[in-house]
Amino acid sequence: MKRSLKIKLIASFIVVITIGGAISTWMGVRYIGNGIVRQAQDKVRTDLNSARVIYLENLNRVKDVVRLTSDRSFIKQSLRSGERSSLVQELERIRIEESLDILSLTNPSGRVFLRSRNPSMAGDDLKDDDIIGQALRSGEAVAATQLLSREQLQKESEQLAARARITLIPTPKAKQRMEGEETSGMVIKAATPVMDGNGGLLGILYGGILLNREYRIVDKVKETVYQGEVYKGKDMGTATIFQGDLRISTNVLREDGERAIGTRVSEEVYEQVLVKGLPWIERAFVVNDWYITAYEPIRDSMDNTIGILYVGMLEQKFTDMRRDTLLVFLSIATGSILAAFIISYFLANSILKPVKELVFASERLAQGDLTHRVQLSSTDEMGELAHTFNSMADSLRERDERLREYTQKKIMESERLATIGQLAAGVAHELNNPLGGVLIYSHLLLENLPEGDEKRENLEKIVTQATRCKEIVKGLLDFSRQTETKVEPVDINHLLKSALGLVENHALFQNIRIAKELIPDPPLIHVDGFQIQQVFINIIMNAAEAMEGEGDLTIQTRLAKENEHIEIAFRDTGCGIPEEDIERLFEPFFTTKEVGHGTGLGLAISFGIIQKHGGTIAVESKQGETTTFTIRLPLKEENT
Ligand code: ADP
Ligand code: MG
Repeated sequence: MKRSLKIKLIASFIVVITIGGAISTWMGVRYIGNGIVRQAQDKVRTDLNSARVIYLENLNRVKDVVRLTSDRSFIKQSLRSGERSSLVQELERIRIEESLDILSLTNPSGRVFLRSRNPSMAGDDLKDDDIIGQALRSGEAVAATQLLSREQLQKESEQLAARARITLIPTPKAKQRMEGEETSGMVIKAATPVMDGNGGLLGILYGGILLNREYRIVDKVKETVYQGEVYKGKDMGTATIFQGDLRISTNVLREDGERAIGTRVSEEVYEQVLVKGLPWIERAFVVNDWYITAYEPIRDSMDNTIGILYVGMLEQKFTDMRRDTLLVFLSIATGSILAAFIISYFLANSILKPVKELVFASERLAQGDLTHRVQLSSTDEMGELAHTFNSMADSLRERDERLREYTQKKIMESERLATIGQLAAGVAHELNNPLGGVLIYSHLLLENLPEGDEKRENLEKIVTQATRCKEIVKGLLDFSRQTETKVEPVDINHLLKSALGLVENHALFQNIRIAKELIPDPPLIHVDGFQIQQVFINIIMNAAEAMEGEGDLTIQTRLAKENEHIEIAFRDTGCGIPEEDIERLFEPFFTTKEVGHGTGLGLAISFGIIQKHGGTIAVESKQGETTTFTIRLPLKEENT
């Protein structure tokens, strides 16, 4: 029992701590974990902005180069004169210097005048090209991203067409696509009108960079935004340019370390960015690892979505961070559970110590050791309990001692009475016959003496004294229960009344007021009516003698102890009994009366009779005021 209480205490401590720890760990991990992911997404969003800036920078650079070159006089001269041969060299030099892939001229109607990279290919009409067309119409420099078909690329240069051609690599989550390769290409391109001094249009100069397999932009992004950070052997940041959903320029690497050209974007991103034209910022599986990614559409000059700009951060670093946080939280939680266990162990011990002590003390008490006390100085409920326990043990001990004393006294008393009774009975028996003889012979002598004989007076004295002796002997025999009892159902009120009737007329009762407080129709009791009446007479006579013929005698009957007993109380207003006499009251021959007035047998005989009937007789007295004798008789018929 003790042990299970301790386990309960410790268990409840641990349950509380564990639940608390679990909740805080869960919340902490969720909160911090989410925070980490959100932060990573925010970063990737700004990274995408940086990537766009870099992309546009490149586009603007192409535009600047084309615009500045268009102002060169040798171009205007050639366009005016139609002279191409010297122009080719000069344009090609500028193209290479500015690292452009295309640099070409058209005449004012949009027909190609010269392609620096492919001089033999000229005369075709480009006025329907969206960028060139716009430059022709607006008379201003125009720059945009553009898709060029294989034929268009071939016209600029066979080499470019070859570079643009990309074999598709099957990609698990990508959208189904029929063809096995991509032959068109994506360029950033600018066109600007070439004007003569008077504001007349001489032609259009256009230039561009083919983005397919051109890594300048993506690598610049990686370098600028991620500063080449590597996490666990992998590039932390990546950037990609898609033509449609196809990777044409990227620094995401395949397993073999090659750039993942030819792989495609997942169908989800395809739908979101290419079809709906919206950005996508989320985690995504890119080629062979999870990234936190951001995608946004690349649009041509007509605002059609033709490609995607992408940046992504390796997710691993953030999942690791989240795992580390979880570990930290878990170890804190485990630590606190451990600490809680230790603390609760000691706490439970200190709480249970007084309980144990109380249990021990109770056990001692149950085994009969009434002297054991609980030593507890605390002022809490336990202390109170210990205090109560101690006072309970105190009163138990006190009662125990009183009981022992009382029983001892009782045993001694009845032993003494019994011994005296036996002795008296023996003596009485021996005296009975000789006394009878004395009486018979003295009566005979008295009869034989003539009237007026002087010896007659002495003989009469002998007869009187002998008769008195005989009475005493009879009393002694009564006391020692030598006489038989005749049990019959009697009405106690009836018995009392007839006892009173016998004594009332006595001179002693002339000035005594007798009050009767009797229960009407008392249950019948099984007793020897004659003997009980004797007892009543004894007590009533004693009372009258104690009051010396003047006072109040109250006789009361009542039922007691759940109708198991009937009690008869006699209260007088007599002289009372000194305390030291009470103990000896029921002894034979104990009397306070003058010689010749009392035998000291009345109460002794009464005691014997009542005891024989299974009852008790008790006395209570206040000296000089009152005395009450109470007789208690069982109502149930008992073996008598
Ligand atoms: P006796 O009456 O012959 O003296 P008892 O045995 O009847 O003998 O009584 C013993 C003694 O008890 C009496 O002598 C008396 O001192 C005392 N006693 C009995 N009844 C009363 C009483 N009602 N009031 C005062 N003392 C009493
Ligand atoms: Mg008497």
